[in-house]
Amino acid sequence: MQIYWQVVAFVFGAMIGSFLNVCIGRWPAEQSVVRPRSRCPHCRHQLAWYENIPLLSWVALRARCRCCAEPISVQYPLVELAVAVLWFFTVRQMGAGFVAVRVAVMATVLLGVAITDAKHYLIPDGFTLFGLVFALGTAVYAALGADSGPFAGLYEAVIGACVGAGFIAIVGWLGEIAFKKEAMGMGDMTLMAFVGAAVGPNRAILTVFVAAAIGAAAFILVVYPVAWFRRDRRLEQGELPLGPAPFEPPLVPFGVFLAPAALVALLWGNAVFAWILGG
Ligand SMILES: [Zn+2]
Repeated sequence: MQIYWQVVAFVFGAMIGSFLNVCIGRWPAEQSVVRPRSRCPHCRHQLAWYENIPLLSWVALRARCRCCAEPISVQYPLVELAVAVLWFFTVRQMGAGFVAVRVAVMATVLLGVAITDAKHYLIPDGFTLFGLVFALGTAVYAALGADSGPFAGLYEAVIGACVGAGFIAIVGWLGEIAFKKEAMGMGDMTLMAFVGAAVGPNRAILTVFVAAAIGAAAFILVVYPVAWFRRDRRLEQGELPLGPAPFEPPLVPFGVFLAPAALVALLWGNAVFAWILGG
C-alpha cells in the first residue's frame, strides 16, 4: 500500500511540475497561466494532449517541437522530474497525508520562486500570495484538529508572516545603507511573509541567516571561481583589453538562497533551536 501512494505522489508531482513550468514561463511576463493552452514558443503550434504529457512527451519527441523541429528546453523535463521526485520522497518519508501535502506544496512553490528569481530577478506574486494563503489556510485547518507536523500553529503563523516580512525589510534597508543600492525587493518581503506563515517568527528569522550562510558558501565555492575562470578565458582569447581587467562579480538574487533556507528552517529549524538552547 505504501509503494502505491509513493507512485501516485510521483505521477501527481510530475503533473504539478508541468504546471509549475507554465507558471515559471508566464508569470514573469504577466501572462495568465490558464489561457491560452500550451504552445510551442517558436512556432505557436498548440500542443495536443499527447505532446504535453509530463516527462514522457519530451523523451518521445526527442526534445524537438513536432511542428517546427526547434529544440524544447531541458528545463521542462528537469522541473517535472524534480517535483515528481520531491513529492515521491515527501510521501515516502512522511506517509501519504495532510502534513506530506503541505510540505510538498511548500517545497514546490519555493522551487518556482528560486527558478524565476535566478532567471528573471523577480519573484512573482502568484507564488508568494498563493503560498501565504495556503500556509494560513492549512494552519486554520490544522487548528481544527489535524496534525500540524513541522508547521507553525495558527497564532504563530500570523505573527510569523509579519515578522518574516518585517525582518527582511530591515535587512534590506541595512543592506541599502551598506552597499548604496537596493538589496531586497518587494518580492523578498512577500516571500518572507509566506515563509513566516509556514514556520512562525523564530524560524523565519533563522531562514534569513541560513540564506545568508548558503549565499556566502555559494559565492565562495561556485559563483566567484566561475566568474574568475570566465574572465581568464576572455583575457586569453583577447576579448578583454590587456592590463587590469575589470572584475564584476555576478549578481545572484537573494530569493535563490531564501527558498532552500526556508525548507531547512521548516524541517530542521526546531532541532537547531533545541541544540542552541540545550548546548
Ligand atoms: Zn514549434
